[in-house]
Amino acid sequence: MRPPLDGRGIVSNLLALSDKHALSVERLTVAYSHGDQLLLALDGATLEVKRGEFVCVVGASGSGKSTLLNVLAGLDRPSAGRAHVHGRVALIFQESALLPWLTAAGNVELALELRGVNASARQKLAYELLNRVHLAGFEKRRPHELSGGMKQRVALARALAQDADVLLMDEPFGALDAISRDLLHEELERIWKESRLTILFVTHNAREAVRLGDRVMVFTSRPGRVAHEVQVDLSRPRSLDSPELAVIAGRITDRLKHEMAV
Ligand code: ADP
Ligand code: MG
Repeated sequence: MRPPLDGRGIVSNLLALSDKHALSVERLTVAYSHGDQLLLALDGATLEVKRGEFVCVVGASGSGKSTLLNVLAGLDRPSAGRAHVHGRVALIFQESALLPWLTAAGNVELALELRGVNASARQKLAYELLNRVHLAGFEKRRPHELSGGMKQRVALARALAQDADVLLMDEPFGALDAISRDLLHEELERIWKESRLTILFVTHNAREAVRLGDRVMVFTSRPGRVAHEVQVDLSRPRSLDSPELAVIAGRITDRLKHEMAV
């Protein structure tokens, strides 16, 4: 049960892409009831992401990051405030959430089918999308026959199949080994550049946020809202191991520690 706070929150999906913002969140509050207690997951979070921008959100565990993405994806409702997304949204989780009985191509084809793509065109398009994420040759594998990194590539191809304008990513590479994660950073950055995608990427890893984001938003701990924002002006592609990146990530980590201590 979601108790109402100071009025009903609003989520809307405006297809008008004339606005320069791909998404905007205004004083978003999400409360959960735990017995007779009210737990605030988000408390007045406000942020905007411009079209084509790559924005990362970092925050401690429990700071409402997943709640924010869930509201933007329409899976959860605000208690108060507003969340607007302009255009179509795709969501990628830490677990790729592929259907285990379908092949890699089958998972992508299903997304195409849901989008209304003709049966005759679906297989070719699915193969093209898998090729785009460097999975040519793996089309007929089922999820259990793929590595964690490959599964996230299929999830990325499936998100592309949805022809989304906004990609919401919830700690998508958190469970991967360092090398797979590095490769997926490159892959994601390439796809973002090639497309007109707007990306909101959640992570608890400051280095990953600085590796990928045009901007990094640091969330407060319990309840979440934006405490601090960092513009990342390093040229791309960035290396996770570069000293420049480490300096900025270090400052973000200090800020996170400060937020966790208050
Ligand atoms: P994060 O992704 O930053 O770790 P979450 O958004 O998952 O944080 O959770 C924020 C807070 O809201 C946590 O305290 C969590 O326990 C609580 N919460 C999240 N989803 C629910 C839910 N469906 N019902 C009750 N409490 C929830
Ligand atoms: Mg989370």
